[in-house]
Amino acid sequence: GMLLFILLISCAVAYALHKYFNKYTTPEDTLRSAIDNGEIVPFYQPIVNGRTGTLRGVEVLARWKHPTAGFISPASFIPIAEKSGLIVQLTQSLMAQVIANMNAITSKLPEGFHLGINFSATHINSPAFLDDCMKYRDSFQCKDLTHVIEVTEREPLNVDEQLITKLNILHDSGFAIALDDFGTGYSGLSYLNDLQIDYIKIDQSFVGRVNENAESTILLDCVIDLASRLSLSIVAEGVETLAQVEYLNRHNITFLQGYYFYKPVSFTDLVKILLSRPRE
Ligand code: C2E
Ligand code: CA
Ligand code: CA
Ligand code: CA
Repeated sequence: GMLLFILLISCAVAYALHKYFNKYTTPEDTLRSAIDNGEIVPFYQPIVNGRTGTLRGVEVLARWKHPTAGFISPASFIPIAEKSGLIVQLTQSLMAQVIANMNAITSKLPEGFHLGINFSATHINSPAFLDDCMKYRDSFQCKDLTHVIEVTEREPLNVDEQLITKLNILHDSGFAIALDDFGTGYSGLSYLNDLQIDYIKIDQSFVGRVNENAESTILLDCVIDLASRLSLSIVAEGVETLAQVEYLNRHNITFLQGYYFYKPVSFTDLVKILLSRPRE
């Protein structure tokens, strides 16, 4: 009798504590359970050849499919993931889902399809990074994919020897390295000598300034000029208007990404796009 009573009391206490702490869970705890519950899912934004309108590939963008709040933007949870180190698990979970998605549509993928994924410096610096990338690549049934590693220079990228070595190893193993948000960073340009970068992604803050006013493109012109002098390929981001498409075409920027063409879409919608588009 006494034993049962004690058992009941401790159960009640445990339940109350559980309730209490759930009220005060940290953003990290909430994010951790979201990752564990598979609520962080990949969306895909097509990148097109602006001349032909054909699909060059997609960029994977994280979305939090919240059970009650709907889709939550990565701008609100990627910083929490980076600060807490959860970005490693988050990205690993995304990679696993991307593999499953792509392996379900192997025969529908255009030749040489580019598949870009964003990596934070915290993850690149973690011991798991190289192994994660190699296993990722080897898990795709389609061997004709170009795997793009997007590294942002927005957060001051600590370009130390270790990071350069790792990215150069991946480049030499056939990955494409893309420098994201080009022109917005603080890290200076010196690392462009050491890093084997395949292309740069021009930030939407530059592309967004293209309008009827000729002066509005001075910065963009400089960034394009710099990239071409360094023989870097270019993807323009945040392309929203026909005027921007025409400007970019005139400047031989072939690969374009933005709402003018497509928003980031769910896997289901990506499949619909792939089935309805002409092939490169
Ligand atoms: P980003 O890598 O520069 O991704 C491009 C962002 O621009 C995406 O925002 C995309 O939805 C948005 N975008 C695309 N086209 C247009 C356009 O025409 N107009 C405008 N206004 N915006 C456009 P999103 O998906 O909210 O992602 C924001 C940032 O969060 C990304 O910027 C990236 O830095 C980060 N992020 C997203 N997913 C991941 C991830 O899986 N891992 C890491 N480390 N970072 C991620
Ligand atoms: Ca990106
Ligand atoms: Ca970008
Ligand atoms: Ca951006």
